[in-house]
Amino acid sequence: MNAEILAIGSELLLGETIDTNSAYLARQLAAIGINLFRKSVVGDNEERIATMVGEALDRVDLLICTGGLGPTVDDVTREAVARALQRPLVFHQHLLDQIEARFRSFGRTMSESNRRQAYVPEGARIVENPRGTAPAFIVEDAHGTVVVLPGVPSEMRYLWEHAIMPYLREERGETGVILVRTLHAAGLGESVIGEMIADLMVQTNPTLGISARRAQYELRIGAKAANRAVAEEMVAAVEAVIRERLGSHLLGDERLDRVVARLLRERDVTLALHEGSTHAPVYHALNAHPDALAALRGVIIHPADVPVDDQAVMSLARTGAIAVRSQWHADIGLALQPASAPGSDGFTLMSVALAHAGGVREWYRRFDAGSDDVWDFAGTMALDGLRQHLAAM
Ligand code: ATP
Ligand code: MG
Repeated sequence: MNAEILAIGSELLLGETIDTNSAYLARQLAAIGINLFRKSVVGDNEERIATMVGEALDRVDLLICTGGLGPTVDDVTREAVARALQRPLVFHQHLLDQIEARFRSFGRTMSESNRRQAYVPEGARIVENPRGTAPAFIVEDAHGTVVVLPGVPSEMRYLWEHAIMPYLREERGETGVILVRTLHAAGLGESVIGEMIADLMVQTNPTLGISARRAQYELRIGAKAANRAVAEEMVAAVEAVIRERLGSHLLGDERLDRVVARLLRERDVTLALHEGSTHAPVYHALNAHPDALAALRGVIIHPADVPVDDQAVMSLARTGAIAVRSQWHADIGLALQPASAPGSDGFTLMSVALAHAGGVREWYRRFDAGSDDVWDFAGTMALDGLRQHLAAM
């Protein structure tokens, strides 16, 4: 079974409300192995909603809509779905009685506009909503199945869990699972890592996706299978191949900053930093982690006006790392030093030095000075150097 999600509400389109319903539903569909092909957002406009419902059913078997079931005139999802499926709306007295009873239980009287919520498209299966006034419904049509849920996130989730998920599992036989595992990697260029796993990325099941975030990588393995055990095996097989190809660049379940913080604690190592820029990317990455802060003895932030000359930049990093290490009697001194200006090619040299009891290790690279993420890239280079050093201790 293939699905789409349609989130309905002008507030979503205007960016005033963030569409969290679709994200929730996407994860839920994955959990029962239903392929999700598309997520869309549409405003409170009957004609446009009806068009999108019709188009979605031309593509997939199942459409899940949220929002627009309220009593006000801008809540038009009911009408739009009825129109798309060419079914009249039918009034149900027992729904009106329930809505009325719900108002009475709050000590309020129902307004006339709530009457609209007692209508559903002809032939629809009604899903009662004990969490709100708007009943949800399912229409099984020759074109496909439409599930319509209220927009209020807590109501939507309640009905999904208690009615829609059981319906899909028990009545529609959707008992599979899509398992997703996310692995982190660092210390490689995006095109390099892309080439190392390109063949795995064109497979359809299991799938492998990669996204770069803060100059680090997330590799998402997804496997669809009849049950969890089989899906886990499929994921593990892909993970083994990735592990072999990326070697020490593959971090596992944790992001780079977390790995470094954990290793600092496990190796019982103290650290001092020398940052040659006020961006201080290494300090910023580590200061969210109590384990890293506990290991930190001192930080110097000292933006010096260094000549563009590579040797000068590297020597400043070296002396910075040695100086902070000795000043605070730390096990490791780590320095990140950028050149003060990019070269004629627009790239800036960044140099990292790590001073330890046995000597100094150095890394350097040129980064595109025009990139928004240049400090993330530089910080990642320094943190990854530190990680390699700690891992080998
Ligand atoms: P009700 O019958 O309770 O009024 P409804 O189906 O009419 O529900 P809406 O009026 O569309 O739902 O939205 C109700 C609330 O839920 C609003 O605060 C809205 O911002 C929020 N909401 C609607 N859709 C979403 C969504 N996709 N993600 C997150 N919040 C949403
Ligand atoms: Mg609304």
